Amino acid sequence: MSQKRPIKIGIMGGTFDPIHNGHLVTAEEALIQFDLDKVIFVPAGYPPHKEERKSLDPVERYLMTVIATASNSDFEVSRIEVDRKGPSYTIDTISEFREMYGGGTEIFFITGADAILEIITWRDADKLAGMCKFIAATRPGYCLKKLKELHVLPYENKEPEQGKPKIYIMEIPALAISSTDIRERVKEGLPIRYLVSEGVANYVLKCGFYR
Ligand code: NAP
Repeated sequence: MSQKRPIKIGIMGGTFDPIHNGHLVTAEEALIQFDLDKVIFVPAGYPPHKEERKSLDPVERYLMTVIATASNSDFEVSRIEVDRKGPSYTIDTISEFREMYGGGTEIFFITGADAILEIITWRDADKLAGMCKFIAATRPGYCLKKLKELHVLPYENKEPEQGKPKIYIMEIPALAISSTDIRERVKEGLPIRYLVSEGVANYVLKCGFYR
C-alpha cells in the first residue's frame, strides 16, 4: 500500500506592486521543483519595512494578483494580509496558515532572497524556523554571501544548524523583471506588455497607476 505524503503548500509573499511575470515564473518553478500541491499568493497589506515609499493601495495590489493568477488552477490568492490591521509581519501570516492547515502540512514561504534575509534576522526567526521552510528566489548573479554568513544555506544538502531556518535557493532568470522597473516604465510612458500579464497591463493603464 502506498503511503500518502503530507500536503505541501507554497505561500508566495510579496508587495506585488505590481505583480509581474517574474513572480509568476517563480511560483510555477517552486510548484514543480518542490512538488507543491498549490501556491497561495499573499499580497502584503502594509509591508513593515517600506515607510520610505508608499505602495499602491493593498486592495488594488490584491486585485492585480487575482487578475494575474486567475487562469492557473494551482494558484490561489489570499486577502489575509490585506484584511489584517497594522504592519504585515510574516510570522503572523505563517501562524495563521499553520492554524488553518494543521501541523501535518508542509509550508514553504517563497519570496525574494533580500526579503528572506530581513525576515530571518527579525526577532521571531527561531520561531519561524520551526513553522516553515523558505524558498529564496534570486536573480542570476545574486551574491549569496550574506545568506552564507548566517549559516542558513543548506550546503550540499546538509541540514542547517539547530534552530536555524531551512532555506532553499532558487535562481530565476525571469526575475530580471522587477516591479521597480515596471513602475518606472509606466511613468516614462514605455510599454509593459509581456513583462506583466495582459490583464494587469490593461488594469494599470485603466486605473492610471504609477504615472
Ligand atoms: P522587497 O523588499 O520589495 O523585495 C526584495 C526583492 O525580492 C526585490 O528584488 C523583489 O522584486 C523581490 N521579490 C519580492 N517578492 C518576491 C516574490 N514573491 N518572488 C520573487 N521575488 C520577489 O520585498 P517585499 O515584496 O516587500 O516583501 C516580500 C515578502 O517578505 C512580503 O511577504 C513581506 O511581507 C515579507 N517581509 C516580511 C518582513 C517581516 O515580517 N519582518 C520583512 C520584510 C519582508 P520585485 O520588487 O520585483 O518584487
